[in-house]
Amino acid sequence: MRAPRLKGAQFPATMKASQFFISTLKEAPADAEVASHRLMLRAGFIKRLSAGIYTYMPMGLRVIRKIENIVREEMNAAGAVELLMPVVQPAELWQESGRFSRYGPELMRVKDRHQRDFVIQPTSEEVITDIARQELRSYRALPRNFYHIQTKFRDERRPRFGVMRGREFTMKDAYSFDRDAAAAETSYRRMYDAYVRIFARMGLVFRVVAADTGAIGGDRSHEFQVIAETGEDAIAYGVESDYAANVELAEALPLIDRRVAPAEDLAKTATPGKSTCEDVAAFLGLPLERTVKSLVLAVAGVETEGASAPAPADIWLLLVRGDHSLNEVKASKIEGLRDGWRFATAAEIRASFGSDPGYLGPIGLVQGGDAKVRVLADRTVAAMSDFVCGANEAGFHFTGVNWGRDLPEPDLVADIRNVVSGDPSPDGKGRLAIQRGIEVGHVFFLGTKYSAPMKATYLDEKGQPQLLEMGCYGIGITRIAGAAVEQNHDERGMIWPAAIAPFSVVVCPIGYDRAVAVRDAADALHAQLLAAGIDAILDDRGERPGAMFADWELIGVPHRVVLSERGLKQGEIEYQGRRDAAAAVLPAADALTFVRGKLAA
Ligand code: ATP
Ligand code: MG
Repeated sequence: MRAPRLKGAQFPATMKASQFFISTLKEAPADAEVASHRLMLRAGFIKRLSAGIYTYMPMGLRVIRKIENIVREEMNAAGAVELLMPVVQPAELWQESGRFSRYGPELMRVKDRHQRDFVIQPTSEEVITDIARQELRSYRALPRNFYHIQTKFRDERRPRFGVMRGREFTMKDAYSFDRDAAAAETSYRRMYDAYVRIFARMGLVFRVVAADTGAIGGDRSHEFQVIAETGEDAIAYGVESDYAANVELAEALPLIDRRVAPAEDLAKTATPGKSTCEDVAAFLGLPLERTVKSLVLAVAGVETEGASAPAPADIWLLLVRGDHSLNEVKASKIEGLRDGWRFATAAEIRASFGSDPGYLGPIGLVQGGDAKVRVLADRTVAAMSDFVCGANEAGFHFTGVNWGRDLPEPDLVADIRNVVSGDPSPDGKGRLAIQRGIEVGHVFFLGTKYSAPMKATYLDEKGQPQLLEMGCYGIGITRIAGAAVEQNHDERGMIWPAAIAPFSVVVCPIGYDRAVAVRDAADALHAQLLAAGIDAILDDRGERPGAMFADWELIGVPHRVVLSERGLKQGEIEYQGRRDAAAAVLPAADALTFVRGKLAA
C-alpha cells in the first residue's frame, strides 16, 4: 500500500470508504413494511436489536447528527437553552403530576434494587417543571426555554416502520416558562416559527396542522406533518383555504342543515345475511347515505365495596351515517366517555339489544333499569329523516325511520365522526381534502397543566406567587430520518436531501486500486472538496463500478463524481446528481467549482 497523500490529522480518516464502515445488503428483511425501513436496513443505516429498538450504524448516525445539528442551531437561534435531563426518572415526580397512574402501558416503569419506582422518560415535563420551580423563582428569570436532545422510551403497542415508530428513539423536547398566558403565546409562536425553519432547512415537504393534545395534555397544539402516503396520520386541509387539522381533531359539520318532514312509513324489512351498511344499502337499492351505523360502547362498571361482582357497565349506542366512521378521539371527549370506554362485548350487546351485532339500531331498545342505553348521534345522523337502521333482530332492518315519530330524540348529539374528503371546511371556505402525513414535530400550549399540580410558581413584582405558564415542543429526531426517506426514494434506494445526507458528495474512482493516475486525481479532488468544507467521501475500496454505484445509490448520497482512466486522459470527469437520469461530462479542472454550484443550488 502507498502512504496516504493526505495528512491524517488534517482530514479525518473516516472520509475514506475503506476506513469508514459500509455494509449494504441485496435484500431487506421481509418484515420491513415501508420503503424507509427497508432501505435503511439494506443500506446499513440501522440494525435491529429488538422490536422498536435499533442501533444507529455509522452511516445512519451521520444523518441523525446532521438532523440534531440543524435542530440545535435553530433552537439556539430562537433563544432556547440546551441542558440534558436524565433518562431514568423517579416515580415521585410522576405521581405529583398524576401521570404515573394516568399514562398507560406505553410508560416503562422500572424498580431499582430498593424496590423504588422509576420511569424511563417518554418526555420530561415533570423533571423540567421540578427544575423550574427551584430555579425560576422570580419574574426576572422569565421567559425561559430549556431543551434537550435525549433518548426516549415508549413501550408502543405496535412498534413498526423502523425508526418511525420505535420504542427507543431520540427526541428533542423543549419547555417554555412564562409569567402569563400572553407571554406564553409569544414563546409558542417563536417555537412554531423555529419549527418551520427547521423542516424547511431539511428539505422536507410538510404541513402544519391543528392537533389533538393526547397524553401530553394542554389545550392547544400544532403538529408538523411530513406529507407521505405511508404516514400514520390523516390530515384534513381546505382546498380553498389554509385550514389544516389532524383528522383526529378536524370538526365535521352536519351535512344536513335541517331535518325534513318524514316522507316514508316505518317498515321492518328482511335483510337476510346483510349485516353491514354497504350490503344493506346495495340490497335495498338505496344510497349508503340513507343508512345509519350502530356502534356499541361500554363504560366499565364500577366495583362497589362488599359486592362480589362489579356493577354492569353503562352501555352507549353511537350512531354515525353509513358512509362515515367513528372518531374515537372525539368520542373520548364526550362527558361520560371521557374517563375511559371500550367496545361492548357480545354478551353486553345481547343483554341490551336482544340481538347480535350486525342488526343493531336505536328503535325499541330494552328500556328501564340497568338496561338503559344512552343514544349518542352524530350531528348528521340527528338531522336525517327516512333512514335505515338495524331492527335489533337478526336478518331485519327498519326503513323509513324518523326521529321523534318512531323513536325518541337522541340523548346526545355531537360531532363524533371522522371528516371525509369533500366535507365542508370548518372555516366556512370551500371543501376539505384528505392526505396522509408523518408527524415529525408537535408544539403544545400547556398553560398550568403541570405547574398547578406540581406547584411551580414564581414571585411577581408584588412578591405574589404566580403559576408558571408552560409550553412544550417535541421533534422526533430519529423519526425525521425515516420520514425524509419516505418522501425521497426510488427503486434504487434513498435520495437524501442535501442538508441531512450522510455525505454530500461521493468521489467514485474507477480502478483506484490499480491506476495511479486515477488514484492521484481522486485523492486530489477529495482533498480539494474537504478543504472547501464539503462533506465528501472517497470510495477507495476498489469496487467494480456497478457494485460501487449501486451502493451509493442505495445509500442516497445526493452528488457523485466519477473518475476513470479513460476520462482523465481527456481531462474529463463525470458528475451525476442522485436524481439525474444521466451523467454529465465536464473538464476535470472544473470539478470543485461545479460541485460547489450544485451544492448551492
Ligand atoms: P404519535 O401520535 O406518532 O404517537 P405522539 O403524539 O405520541 O406521536 P409526541 O408525544 O408529541 O408524539 O412526541 C413528539 C415527537 O416525538 C413526535 O412528533 C414524533 O416526531 C416523535 N415520536 C413520538 N413517538 C415516537 C416513536 N414511537 N418513535 C419515534 N418517534 C416518535
Ligand atoms: Mg404516541
